[in-house]
Amino acid sequence: METVSMPTTPSKSQHVLVLNCGSSSLKFAIIDANNGHEIISGLAERLGSDTPSIKYKYQGNKTIIDLSANQAHAEAINTLVGLIKDHNLDEHLIAVGHRVVHGGEHFTKSALVDDKVIAGISDASSLAPLHGHANLLGISSAQASFAGLPQVAVFDTAFHQTMDKVAYLYALPYKLYTEHGVRRYGMHGTSHYYVAGQTAKLIGKQVEQSNFISAHLGNGCSVCAIKGGKSVDTSMGLTPLAGLVMGTRSGDIDPGLFNFLTTQLNYDAKQIDNLLNKESGLLGISELSNDCRTIEEAAVAGHEKAALALDIFCYRLAKQIAAYMVPLQTLDALIFTGGIGENSDIIREKVITQLAFLGLDCDKQANLDARFGNEGVISSATAATKAVVMPTNEEWVIALDAANIVKEL
Ligand code: AMP
Repeated sequence: METVSMPTTPSKSQHVLVLNCGSSSLKFAIIDANNGHEIISGLAERLGSDTPSIKYKYQGNKTIIDLSANQAHAEAINTLVGLIKDHNLDEHLIAVGHRVVHGGEHFTKSALVDDKVIAGISDASSLAPLHGHANLLGISSAQASFAGLPQVAVFDTAFHQTMDKVAYLYALPYKLYTEHGVRRYGMHGTSHYYVAGQTAKLIGKQVEQSNFISAHLGNGCSVCAIKGGKSVDTSMGLTPLAGLVMGTRSGDIDPGLFNFLTTQLNYDAKQIDNLLNKESGLLGISELSNDCRTIEEAAVAGHEKAALALDIFCYRLAKQIAAYMVPLQTLDALIFTGGIGENSDIIREKVITQLAFLGLDCDKQANLDARFGNEGVISSATAATKAVVMPTNEEWVIALDAANIVKEL
């Protein structure tokens, strides 16, 4: 991700196995780096539990394989190797691309995995232990199973390494930064990068000459201010808990809450972490679900807390977007992406309506049409600032970065 324009496509047909390891899951896909075409994709879930399984989609057919109890990443990757060989998909594989959540300050761009890179990821994993551990497991299992194939690490944080100190430092004792790396890193970098490049194409501008705010709204949500193709600020922080209201994460809260919960309600650190990461957000407010679709349906049916959850989600998002006018000053387009951003016309309209002072408006029909993977401008022709829906494709960015790094070998 060292360039700011959309990645250059490699010349020959080249397939990259993209792996995204979570603590108990493994998302995988083989992507043709030339065009983003997905050859096979799937998800191994409940790894390490009594009932792990792999489901995958190939040539339009969906299949589920049950793994034995307690099998985890290594076994899932082994099964994946078998699958790939059974379908003769290994012939065109040129690399394995790993999505790595935290690259700390070590990584400003994607890297070919070697001992130094592993040490860097290991180092950064103190900042995101669950994810870091899973990412390292994924890399070592893939190295064992795909011996001879180059492994490339693509970092969720790398795109945001262009942020200035003014944007990334917390107002905490400075040595927490210098001695322990406590600062804002931001996540969803591959997504923000991708949609900025695609939006520039859509509206016929050079990304280097554009100012965008992209809202990646999925189970995790973040906003990024992108000036001339570079991230200048973003709402996630040291961890993905910061910023916006999310499915189960609170986003920003008063840090004084920690003292209140410990002294008044006897919470310990683990309970607080659980509360803020798993029991808050849309789920916490609605007391119904973390799933935006469910919340929207309930709100329409008159569920008051579901309606309130949506209102808070949109208000906080609109406020964050408005705040990014400080580093940007002018805005060419507001971009919606992620499961919610790409599909929820309700949320897009609610947010845009609150941002009319930025020259944004919402064309009702265009807003309704931009769903199910359709990109499009959803503001009217007369709007001073464009609103855009742009489906993200993080896997393609990972495949492209891997292909471009392999090309240099
Ligand atoms: P992601 O993490 O990007 O897969 O996004 C997951 C979120 O997208 C969940 O909250 C889903 O409810 C939401 N989502 C997916 N489709 C729709 C839809 N048609 N309307 C509203 N939200 C949706």
